[in-house]
Amino acid sequence: MRLRDEMPPPFEGPREPPASNPWVKGAAIVSASVCLVGFLVFWASDKFGNSKPVEPQGKPVVPEQVQPPPPPPPDLHNPVRPAPSAFPPDSNLPRGKEIYASGPIDLTTFNPTNDIIRFDDSRVWFDSDNRHRPNDADDHLIHRSLEVPLKRLVNLLAKKRGTLKIQDAYRAADKNKIHLAVSLHCEGRAVDLTCDQISLSDLAKLAWQSGFDFVLYEKPVKSGLHLHCSVKRSPDEPLPPRPPQNGSVAAEKGAEKN
Ligand SMILES: [Zn+2]
Repeated sequence: MRLRDEMPPPFEGPREPPASNPWVKGAAIVSASVCLVGFLVFWASDKFGNSKPVEPQGKPVVPEQVQPPPPPPPDLHNPVRPAPSAFPPDSNLPRGKEIYASGPIDLTTFNPTNDIIRFDDSRVWFDSDNRHRPNDADDHLIHRSLEVPLKRLVNLLAKKRGTLKIQDAYRAADKNKIHLAVSLHCEGRAVDLTCDQISLSDLAKLAWQSGFDFVLYEKPVKSGLHLHCSVKRSPDEPLPPRPPQNGSVAAEKGAEKN
């Protein structure tokens, strides 16, 4: 029983709370510091990093489309087709009726404000500038689709020292008294041409080479010989289907009076 008396009494005083332990305090400070540093690193990377821009909701991201380059300007000084071997009076190219080459007139979609332009060239002789007759139409007015082949013809003719004469151009339907009601003159898509320096046959070849969709060496009963040249409303304008050709000479001479 002596042994019990020699043992130290069990400790029963107040224990310090764990937090007051220096080791625990140190661990808590280290943990807080690590969390703070982690938060700062995350905040900095979010603010200054290479984050992608956020698109506003509801607006899908549309990739920027690359516009194709504009088409090159047309060559106005060289033929677009080889010359035909012959172009006699009362014949036309291509064969068949004009409607299958230049398309029908359509006054319901024709808009003079947008479609008619003024053509000026000091090398060209205009009938309306030289013969002042009452109620004459202005022969400078043409459909915009006629401009390129007409300019090309003026340039090709100049190489032959010829002067193009525009005898007739746009005729408004309500003032048209000399052409058929379905004539492409009423849309400005046709011009009547002559030239004093070369034959009309050679002028017709040159007109065909200039890119008109339809060239007629017209031999009217009441008026003088001239060319009637016309174009489609636009290059991609659909055309009526051509009837099967029988290959006869009559098909080539299917000239209409225009
Ligand atoms: Zn005509």
